[in-house]
Amino acid sequence: MEALFSGSNRDFESLGMGWVDAADSRIDTKLSGLGQGSPRVLAELRRFHGLRDPYSAGIPKRLNGYWKKVAEVNGLDLGDVRVQAETYWRGIVNDFLIGPAKVALRSAENHTWRCGMCGRQHFAPSAGVCAGCRVRLPAEPEALRSTGLCST
Ligand SMILES: [Zn+2]
Repeated sequence: MEALFSGSNRDFESLGMGWVDAADSRIDTKLSGLGQGSPRVLAELRRFHGLRDPYSAGIPKRLNGYWKKVAEVNGLDLGDVRVQAETYWRGIVNDFLIGPAKVALRSAENHTWRCGMCGRQHFAPSAGVCAGCRVRLPAEPEALRSTGLCST
C-alpha cells in the first residue's frame, strides 16, 4: 500500500486510480469525507507503520493544518474535527501512523472534487478542504475526465 504513495503531489488519488479508505466498513464522519481526507494527509507524508516512527510531538503539522482549515470552513472547533477523524480511523491509525493492512484502495468513481488551486482530485468530499494545499474545494464534484466515462 505505501508504495502507491510517491510522497509528492502525485499521489494515486490525484492520478485518478482510486482512493484510500478503511478496509472494514465504518460509519462516515459527520463532515463528509473527513474520515478519508485525514489518513490521506498522513499517507502523503508516508506515515505508515514500519516506515516512520510514531509521532509524539502533538499532531503532525500538515494534518493539523488540514484539520484547522476544516474546522474554520465548517464553523467547528479543532477538537471536534479531531474527535470525528479519530473516531473514524480507530484501530487503523495509531500515533499518527497508518496500519497498511487496515486500509483498502477503493476504485475511482466517476466524479471528483478537484482543487482549483493545486489541481488535486478527491474522490471523497474531504470535508470541503484540499488535502494538499488546504484551500476550499468546490461544493459539487465534477465528472472525472480521465476515465472518459462522463466526457461532455
Ligand atoms: Zn489543493
